[in-house]
Amino acid sequence: MRLLLQFPEGLKQYAMEYAKGLESEGNEVFISASPTFGACDLALDEARSIKADKLIHFGHAEFHKVDFNVEYVEYRIDAQLSILNETLSSLSNFEKIGLITTIQHVHQIDALKDFYEKNGKKVFIGKPYGFAKKPGQILGCDVGSAASIDRMVDAFVYFGGGMFHPLGALLATKKPMLVVEPFANRVEFIDRYREVYAKRSRGKIMAALESKSFGILLTTKNGQHNESLARILKRKIEDSGLCAEIMVAGTFDFTSLENLREFDAFVNTACPRIAVDDTERIGKPLLSANELMQVLSMKKELEEIRNREIIQPYK
Ligand code: SF4
Repeated sequence: MRLLLQFPEGLKQYAMEYAKGLESEGNEVFISASPTFGACDLALDEARSIKADKLIHFGHAEFHKVDFNVEYVEYRIDAQLSILNETLSSLSNFEKIGLITTIQHVHQIDALKDFYEKNGKKVFIGKPYGFAKKPGQILGCDVGSAASIDRMVDAFVYFGGGMFHPLGALLATKKPMLVVEPFANRVEFIDRYREVYAKRSRGKIMAALESKSFGILLTTKNGQHNESLARILKRKIEDSGLCAEIMVAGTFDFTSLENLREFDAFVNTACPRIAVDDTERIGKPLLSANELMQVLSMKKELEEIRNREIIQPYK
């Protein structure tokens, strides 16, 4: 069989080992060298161009249905749970705990639950309602497992690595969020970032109020491609008397975006985290669709105020 192997960045270091193993079984193997961000980003064009019989995507569960033979190989990590003892003092004021984690640790969620129940906590594990597939599992763009139990819990415990996933959950919920990173041996509440990101969002909106031309980012990545949203946003901008164009890329390069100098602001329709995490990589407002709608509505209100001559027009 002719195979294309695709690894996220953290697993590319094991590519040769997997390739050799599959070759020894008689397969012809190719490895995708493109950056890979998630199962939303399947290397289908590469697989088709080399006429692969199958794409094997490592590290993520299925994200969306595609018209190609794809095998998903989830990457599970058995982390030591001893770090949980260190969380008990931080959680002493909270009785009802919501547990969330990533696909790498979701098989450990029952063990996490047992630990907290044995220590007198009432444990809630939410069901995903978007792209995530397993109870308690969150993705950077799907935190339904957290949002669905926000009203029931006193605090959340995120078990896993990095800030990317818990940050998404933090911004979609209201309760304290304790991050437990077993490999970094870190136990920390991250609630302060709610205000940091809210302030950043307000700053972008205020800056975009002066914008007259908008570039709408439309990615070709199969699980992030949303042309109808891009078209709707273009029409809304133009209906407001402003200029908009849709710009297409696989992965957006911020230097290239800066070179599109005629555009005053950008609107994201690709991975929703771009308008959250990457805004400081570009010197112009990089808005989500919701933020754009707020900008257009505020612009309209300002216009009406100016027309009523309550304030002097400005240049
Ligand atoms: S957060 Fe972005 S990169 Fe990750 S799965 Fe969702 S769309 Fe893909």
